[in-house]
Amino acid sequence: MNEQAKLVVVGAGLAGLRACEAARRAGHTGPIVLLGEETHLPYDRPPLSKEFLAAEGADVDDPLLRPAAMIYDELDLDVRTGTRAVGLDTIEKTVAVESGYPSRVDHVGYDELVIATGAAARQLPGAEDLTGVLALRTLDDAHAVRLGLDAGANIVVVGAGFIGSEVASAARARGLPVTIVEALDAPLVRSLGVEVGALCSRLHLENGADLRLGVGVAALKPLDGSVPDSHGQRPVGAVELSDGTSLAADLVVVGVGAVPSTAWLRESGVKLHERDGGIVCDETMGVLRDDGSRVEHVWAAGDVAHWDNSLFERTMRLEHWTSAAEQGATAARNALTAPEEWKPYTTVPYFWSDWYDTRLQFVGVPQADEILVQHRSDNKGGTVVLYREADRLVGTLTIGRPDLVMKYRRLIAQRASWSDGVQFGAAAS
Ligand SMILES: Cc1cc2nc3c(=O)[nH]c(=O)nc-3n(C[C@H](O)[C@H](O)[C@H](O)COP(=O)(O)OP(=O)(O)OC[C@H]3O[C@@H](n4cnc5c(N)ncnc54)[C@H](O)[C@@H]3O)c2cc1C
Repeated sequence: MNEQAKLVVVGAGLAGLRACEAARRAGHTGPIVLLGEETHLPYDRPPLSKEFLAAEGADVDDPLLRPAAMIYDELDLDVRTGTRAVGLDTIEKTVAVESGYPSRVDHVGYDELVIATGAAARQLPGAEDLTGVLALRTLDDAHAVRLGLDAGANIVVVGAGFIGSEVASAARARGLPVTIVEALDAPLVRSLGVEVGALCSRLHLENGADLRLGVGVAALKPLDGSVPDSHGQRPVGAVELSDGTSLAADLVVVGVGAVPSTAWLRESGVKLHERDGGIVCDETMGVLRDDGSRVEHVWAAGDVAHWDNSLFERTMRLEHWTSAAEQGATAARNALTAPEEWKPYTTVPYFWSDWYDTRLQFVGVPQADEILVQHRSDNKGGTVVLYREADRLVGTLTIGRPDLVMKYRRLIAQRASWSDGVQFGAAAS
């Protein structure tokens, strides 16, 4: 290990911070520079759509991942917030960064580089001309949504995926009316299947959300009679749907997915995935070029990265907390060790989501030849959904069964057969 190497990490989120922590834990004593576009120290995103929104009235602390003292003193990080990477030169081994007002471009040299720039929320066309139309990706977004909820806003949520559904849950927890607009026939139906879609619809309906399925947003409309503010924006007043309905709204929360933050790498020679522009890595989180060779000394981790997960014999990109944290640590450890010690990153993907009082947890992958729903036979409730690929159990969703999910994760890691998975489920339900 080159203990004096200069490690530069771009992206001061979860994967970026875990990279820095892993480097120090592995005994790295050289300089570590953490570059972050946002003005905040690294914070945790899952609470932003859950308890951060649901807690009414009381002051809620920003969910920082580590206290400032630990970041500066214990980890001894050179954190540069408000600093955006705008280019990468892999020959000179420098990152071009923009910061300050008026902005200035500098170059930060590295010996080893970890890219952990995550993903940015998609927005709806026309949102830029309106106030009150918010995505939920950043702490600033969450503060703005929270303010709207505190004001008792009339809310429309666009997209019944995980983030949209959690926002709706938080609004309902405060007793606010909420309408959810979803273009598909049921929430999550494309990724998790028809049966899960129906269960998720039921959760919304049982908790008093107005769920509009199979309709898209045709237009966002400003409030009648409003005038543009100094930024040329008017307050939102309504959401027009593709079936001609108009929903009055003074807060629209858009949860229609995210795209990897890689625009700054377009000229760098780094291979960007043809589907979504994410960074393509090998199994060690080493970044690749278009010709498939490695970009030396450059690694990636978290929501931004596609990598070869040998446990499932496929390349995947996840937007999950656990893998982002683990990949950050793997990338930094590999960056600071000799090639013969590089470790591949393999995992059974895991995520959770809280809808009303119900926890959904998923392990594995949902691509499936067959989906089997097993309801608990006693009266305690809870559902397990199994996903089969060929003759292997590849994924499991538990709804209200936190006691089972890690057992299924172990089964999937052991490449359990479908029949073993089904039998295990039958015995447990
Ligand atoms: C509201 C919300 C709720 C979630 N809930 C769950 C959950 O319940 N369970 C779960 O498993 N997962 C959840 N997730 C997903 C999880 O939080 C992410 O997978 C994780 O945060 C990814 O970490 P990351 O470090 O890869 O990216 P991020 O956390 O997005 O961090 C990337 C950082 O890089 C910065 N950056 C981007 N571009 C640049 C640039 N050019 N220069 C410098 N800095 C840059 C960004 O500003 C950002 O701070 C949730 C996500 C959100 C948004």
